[in-house]
Amino acid sequence: MTYEDRITELADIVRASDNIVFFGGAGVSTESGIPDFRSVDGLYHQKYDYPPEEILSHTFYERKPEEFFKFYRDKLIVKGVEPNMAHKTLAKWEKEGRLKAIVTQNIDGLHQKAGSKKVLELHGSTLRNYCERCHKFFDIDYIADSKGVPVCDVPGCGGRIKPDVVLYEEGLDMGTMEEAVSFIRNADVLIIGGTSLAVYPAAGLIDYYRGNKLVLINKGATSRDAEASLTIDGKIGEVLGAVDKAL
Ligand code: NAD
Repeated sequence: MTYEDRITELADIVRASDNIVFFGGAGVSTESGIPDFRSVDGLYHQKYDYPPEEILSHTFYERKPEEFFKFYRDKLIVKGVEPNMAHKTLAKWEKEGRLKAIVTQNIDGLHQKAGSKKVLELHGSTLRNYCERCHKFFDIDYIADSKGVPVCDVPGCGGRIKPDVVLYEEGLDMGTMEEAVSFIRNADVLIIGGTSLAVYPAAGLIDYYRGNKLVLINKGATSRDAEASLTIDGKIGEVLGAVDKAL
């Protein structure tokens, strides 16, 4: 099947459904200029003193918070980013009543910025940050503009501020997981995009899908391609933009 045929087939699937769920990862935001982890130009292929999985672990955060925040500010907080065609198309489909929910592994808040309402953030968000001592909320700019380990500005507090992101070794929020399972289990169409499906338990959520329209959109192959009813190898912003045009 040609690329064009695959776009047409996905347009047919989208047109016929009012119960689509989208499951996405870092590849959804690369066209907005945020690097993913596992592409050739992703974070795992750049050189650091420690591997990114180690830096982004709870143990590392506790033991070497200065180095954690250096990496975090350099690589995970990307300022001035805007939603791309993937985020915008999904938000449009929700508004049109086609899409029920987005389940995302991303922590950049770009789906909400594009206007999506039902976004289940499995790994939290860089946009939310809390003092570990008094739980005061801080926005992303406070973390980006601070030096070293960010601390609370409440007089007499001075607690460390932790981004509301799920680090390796940390558990996922049960309420969010349960809601994601429920949407995926009841979905008519499940579109998976921009994820290597390598990070668990998030990737395991797709096993809850019981329908027969599993669509995988990714640059390059994933370990789950064989299970999909339709695969599209391409840039997800371009793919979803083209599908929307064909509706
Ligand atoms: P990953 O890096 O493991 O995989 C990304 C996949 O997307 C790769 O297979 C890559 O080929 C593909 N891809 C890249 N650009 C694409 C595009 N334009 N269109 C289609 N496919 C594209 O990412 P993951 O599976 O999400 O796992 C990484 C973990 O890191 C996640 O848990 C996530 O929380 C976190 N992360 C988040 C962000 C973000 O919030 N934007 C960025 C980096 C990492």
